[in-house]
Amino acid sequence: MAVTDHVDLNQFMEGVKKRNPHQPEFVQAVQEVAQDIFEFMEDKVRYHEAQILRRIAEPDRIVSFRVCWEDDNHNIRVQRGWRVQNNNAIGPYKGGIRFHPSVNESVLKFLAFEQTFKNSLTGLPMGGGKGGANFNPKGKSDAEVMRFCQSFMTELYRHIGPETDVPAGDIGVGGREIGYMFGQYKRITGRWEGVLTGKALEYGGSKMRPEATGYGAVYFLRNMLKHRGEDIDGQTAVISGSGNVATHAAEKIVQMGGKVLTLSDSDGFIHDPDGIDQNKIDWVKDLKNVRRGRISEYCDHFTSATYHGNGARPWNVAADLALPCATQNELDEDDAKALVANGCKAVSEGANMPTTLAGVKVFHDAKILYAPGKAANAGGVAVSGLEMSQNSERISWNHERLGEMLTELMEGIHEKCVEYGDEGAKNGGYVDYVKGANIAGFKKVADAMLAFGVV
Ligand code: GLU
Repeated sequence: MAVTDHVDLNQFMEGVKKRNPHQPEFVQAVQEVAQDIFEFMEDKVRYHEAQILRRIAEPDRIVSFRVCWEDDNHNIRVQRGWRVQNNNAIGPYKGGIRFHPSVNESVLKFLAFEQTFKNSLTGLPMGGGKGGANFNPKGKSDAEVMRFCQSFMTELYRHIGPETDVPAGDIGVGGREIGYMFGQYKRITGRWEGVLTGKALEYGGSKMRPEATGYGAVYFLRNMLKHRGEDIDGQTAVISGSGNVATHAAEKIVQMGGKVLTLSDSDGFIHDPDGIDQNKIDWVKDLKNVRRGRISEYCDHFTSATYHGNGARPWNVAADLALPCATQNELDEDDAKALVANGCKAVSEGANMPTTLAGVKVFHDAKILYAPGKAANAGGVAVSGLEMSQNSERISWNHERLGEMLTELMEGIHEKCVEYGDEGAKNGGYVDYVKGANIAGFKKVADAMLAFGVV
């Protein structure tokens, strides 16, 4: 193969921007990875020659489709659905489905791109994909959600399968939606198979899956603190979000002796200086999963707390630890500065890309511990990978065993990040977890792609 002059980082990013106009989230996710990978590839000409990063940043395919459904007032509604199959070099496409009005192609492409690196980091054989629709589940009846899910799956089923692409939940898609979609897949195909993860225990779900993302983010946080000789016990934490990831992250912080001060939703946040204990967390879980209410209701029930509305975010509340567990770009440069100024020493992302690039720079400059979502929240998809194994083997592992496996998986991811992200003596032993996650995640996918030749 001829050794060609390869493009530099700036030329590469110019190309990405040109080919993906009006897709800022996707460009942001590629930028964050590309700066580390270009440094790593500097002396590795084979990755340049084979255009590996260029190929990972171009989804294998994107399916876009119309989703029609009828609301309770008999209006016909039309939504747009997608599945982005980013890369299947190391296993079937794997990644969640998001139902939220903000969903568009840019958001799903960034999520599928990130998922490719995240899934690689778990060490399990899973490629990267993501899907969703611009459907807003807020305020919809169960029957409306069911009809939407059935219509969505009526198109999606032909693109997925246990050996090709295995979706799961994400924002707006939890146990209820997975149930409706699995039921429709089974009805259309006549096959009971492990085509979705995040299923309920009665029909092939895995124990520990609901807890895995939030618990995993706290295990990762503990691993980072331990690496510096510190611990979660006795520390305060600010958490954003109030869904599955946030409530389980809060639960694990409390179990490890920490004190959780905040939770939020898109309307605002609650600040409870007495601490959000297990009893309060259980109340929030019921509020979100059963009553489907808003976090502001917390203050009517627990008078120790105050509510901050108008979309306020919790990053000005002083705490030792921060766990953004809501959504992308929910923590910007000013928020990061406020956290650092208030003495925050570690950030672990339960959400996908919650911190802007400028926010990440603030954390790095201040040399505080910072774990990007693709490493810190990988516990969720890792247990999804274990759900796939259990479905294939037609077995079900117990809670204890899965808990141990999750702990080990998160330790493994932390070790890989340290291996590739430790800046050693040149930077006072600081570990750049973004760099570590990017390089470790990239290397496995890239080496598999090299083995396949030009495909
Ligand atoms: N949506 C989750 C994530 O961002 C889980 C994906 C899965 O379990 O496949 O990783």
